[in-house]
Amino acid sequence: MVQSILSNLAIILLGHLFMSMLLSQSNRLSKQVLSICIVLLFSTVIISMFYLPIEIDGYKFDLRLIPLIFLAIFRGWKITLSTLIIVCTWRYFMGGVGALPGILAGMVGPTLFVLFFYALTKRFNNLYEKIFVLTVCWLISDFPIVFIVPNGWEVFKNIFLIRYTSFLAVAFTYYSFIKAEYNKAYYKKQLEWMAWHDQLTNLLNRRKFIELIEAKRSTSIKNSYIAMIDIDHFKKINDTYGHIAGDHVLIELASIFNKEKENNMMIARYGGEEFIVYLEAATLEEAILSLEQLRQHVHNTSFEIDPAHHIHISISIGLAKWEKDYLLQEVIDTADQHLYIAKERGRNQLISSYHVDFVYS
Ligand code: GH3
Ligand code: MG
Ligand code: MG
Repeated sequence: MVQSILSNLAIILLGHLFMSMLLSQSNRLSKQVLSICIVLLFSTVIISMFYLPIEIDGYKFDLRLIPLIFLAIFRGWKITLSTLIIVCTWRYFMGGVGALPGILAGMVGPTLFVLFFYALTKRFNNLYEKIFVLTVCWLISDFPIVFIVPNGWEVFKNIFLIRYTSFLAVAFTYYSFIKAEYNKAYYKKQLEWMAWHDQLTNLLNRRKFIELIEAKRSTSIKNSYIAMIDIDHFKKINDTYGHIAGDHVLIELASIFNKEKENNMMIARYGGEEFIVYLEAATLEEAILSLEQLRQHVHNTSFEIDPAHHIHISISIGLAKWEKDYLLQEVIDTADQHLYIAKERGRNQLISSYHVDFVYS
C-alpha cells in the first residue's frame, strides 16, 4: 500500500517536473499550444494513476484527484475541463464496476467544486482554507462509498484514516513543489525586469532597447528612425532644487515617454538625462511631426518639484534615418550630431537631416 501511495506521488511529481520544463519554454510556444500541452500532460499523469491503484481491504483507490484540484486552482476552467473530459472518457472505456463512481465522485464532483469555490471566493491561501478545500474534495470523492458498496459504513471507517492522511500528505507535498516553482518564476521575472530596465525611470535600459529594436526593425515595413533626446539645462535644475528634485523630473518625463509606446515609439534611457528613441514612420516628415508633438507636450507639461514648486523644462532632439545598410552606432552618431546642432541653435528644438540640408543648401 505504501508502495502504491509513493508511486502515485512519484507520478504526480514527475508530471510536475515536465510541467516546469514546459513552462520554462512557454515564451517560445503560443498560448494555445501551451494549453494543449498542459492538458495532454495532466491527462497522461492522471490516466497513469488509473493503472497504479492503492489497494486497501480489497478496494482500489488512487490519488487522481490531486492533480485535478491544483489544475482547477492554478489553470482555470478551460484547461481543467478539457483535461477532465479526456480522463473521464478514458476511465469510462476502461470499464469495471468502479467506472461510474470513479468518474462522478472521484473526479467530476470534486473538480467542479474547486472550480466554483475558487472562482467565487479566490480562497486557497492560508492553511485552514487549504485543508477545507482538500477535505471537501476528499469527502465528495470517498463518502459515497457508504451508500455504494455493501457494508459501506464499515468500509469507509476502515479506509478513512489512511485515505485522508495520504491524500493530505501528497496534496501538500505537491503544493509545496508548485509554490516553489511559482516563487522561482516570480524572482526570475523580477531579475529580468531589473536587468532590462533603468532602476530610476523604469524605462528600458540601453542594452535591452538595442536588442529589441534590432529585432523590430528587421520585420518593419516602414522606415526606421533614431532620435536622441537631451534635457536642456538639466544641471541648473539639480543646482537650484537639488539632485532629488532632478530625479523627480527624470521620473515624470519617463512616464510621458512611456505613453509614447502607443504611438509607434520606443524610448529608453541612454544615460544621465539623455534618452534614445526608435520610431517607425512612412516619411521623415511624419517622424518629425511625431517627435515635435512630443517636444511640445514636454514643454507644456508642468513638472512637480514639490507641492509648492512646479517648473517647465524643455528638451532638444536630434533625429536620423536608419538607412537599410547602416549600423545602429552610425545612426546614433548622426542623431547625436543633430542634437548638438539643436543645442547650438538655442535648444528646445528638433534637428534632422531635413533641417541641416535645408539651411546649408
Ligand atoms: P544642456 O542643455 O547643454 O544639455 O545642459 P545640461 O545642464 O542639461 O547638460 P550637462 O551635461 O552640463 O549636465 C547634465 C546633468 O545631468 C549633470 C548631471 O549631474 C545630471 N544628471 C545625470 N544623471 C542624473 C540623474 O540620474 N539624476 C539627476 N538628478 N541628475 C542627473
Ligand atoms: Mg546631456
Ligand atoms: Mg542636458
